[in-house]
Amino acid sequence: MKKLLYGVFLIVFIFNQSISGIPVSFLYKLKIEPGIMHVNLEYTPILSDSTTFKYGNVFYGGMKDLLNSMVNIHSSAQFKIDSAGSRITFYYHEKTPVKISYDIVDTHKPEHKVVGEMFRPIITNDYFFSLSHTLFLTPDIDEKLNGRLLMSVTLQKKPAFPMYFSFAPEMKPGQTVTLKLSDGLDALITGATDLHIEKREMAGIKNYIVLRINKNNSYNLKRFMDYFDTFLPAMTNFWGNLNGSYYTLVASSFLDIKYHDISGTAFNSGFHVKFSGDTILVNETVLITISHEIMHRYIGTGCVAIDDNNQWFNEGFTDYTTWYLLSQCGDITADRFNQLVKETFEQLSVNPVRNTPNDEIMKHFWENHNYEKLPYNRGALFAAYIDKRITELSNGTATFRDFMRSLKTLAEEKKKLLTVDDFISTASKYIPEDEIRNSVQKYIIQGEMIPEKLIFNQ
Ligand SMILES: [Zn+2]
Repeated sequence: MKKLLYGVFLIVFIFNQSISGIPVSFLYKLKIEPGIMHVNLEYTPILSDSTTFKYGNVFYGGMKDLLNSMVNIHSSAQFKIDSAGSRITFYYHEKTPVKISYDIVDTHKPEHKVVGEMFRPIITNDYFFSLSHTLFLTPDIDEKLNGRLLMSVTLQKKPAFPMYFSFAPEMKPGQTVTLKLSDGLDALITGATDLHIEKREMAGIKNYIVLRINKNNSYNLKRFMDYFDTFLPAMTNFWGNLNGSYYTLVASSFLDIKYHDISGTAFNSGFHVKFSGDTILVNETVLITISHEIMHRYIGTGCVAIDDNNQWFNEGFTDYTTWYLLSQCGDITADRFNQLVKETFEQLSVNPVRNTPNDEIMKHFWENHNYEKLPYNRGALFAAYIDKRITELSNGTATFRDFMRSLKTLAEEKKKLLTVDDFISTASKYIPEDEIRNSVQKYIIQGEMIPEKLIFNQ
């Protein structure tokens, strides 16, 4: 019996220490208490002499003082802090484990506005939120190497409140999970006294919906899950199976922000939204925004996407497919769907930069909203044209869905991003090749306004 137990222990121990023989370089132990997160890291050096780590990521919201969130830093090695660069360098002589400990505290203030609530760690007496780059240290090495390194995470038993880790949805306090560093560094960690997790399994993927539900906002649960339970099957029915094993959607209300409806950020296998007030899906804009972001699981990023400078497809087709499916599952009416396309046509018609050629849009993208909206509107209208033409030419025997599925099949075969030529050759199975090639050239690449008659039934 003793021997057997020892055997079991050894297996567990080995599993925690490595995945297929790769040693774990970063062993994290976390302890959440009201207002503070204690982090203990045992780092087995991956570089000789010294390693520099970044804390936070200035691309998220441009905040340069993020390092203020990290306090009480101690280490068995010598270290130097570069506050301006948000970096810490540890110096050692041998490749024996270096012990590092630090605390993460809440430094978000109302004046940081939306980016403060979206990208800074927030730790109150009843709530914890952090993207992984403001909880863990990111080694300053070629990012590709992160996929070959391992980290492990253990949350101490009896945390101050329930916690959720997007990289290990079912992880329990006291358990250790081992994962690729790249997965751990593109994640979200949250917790709350009123944390509520719903799980929906569909097409082999476990979907976790992470909300904050308490007696004051319990109506949100039904409201949100009614939406999710109609939209998820519609999406799965449209697209078919998807690679991956789980997906996380985190939604909770802003703490300080009343003037901005909704904001969101994607992370590996998931999406995070914060909304103002106490009601999720308070209006149609919020419904469409959340659905658009969930739609990116299939289109625009990863699975079915066209390589650089083709936001017309990656965003515009995402918009159109989102409206298409919302109307199919009854979350908006068919009339409203048609109206959304009409409104898009009107918006593009009056956009002063509507004739900008496709490859010049990105140069001006951040200049003003006219450029930002252009690829969304142009692409959505082009999708509407494709939808109409396929239905007409096939007498209703083929649909927009068939075309999008063909693109997905091709993307899965190629295992990389599609090109505009892939798009044309796939569309030419449904629409004469000359026509589709000319249309792409004129209405997408050159930026000519698409005629009304190509989109709407006269
Ligand atoms: Zn998008």
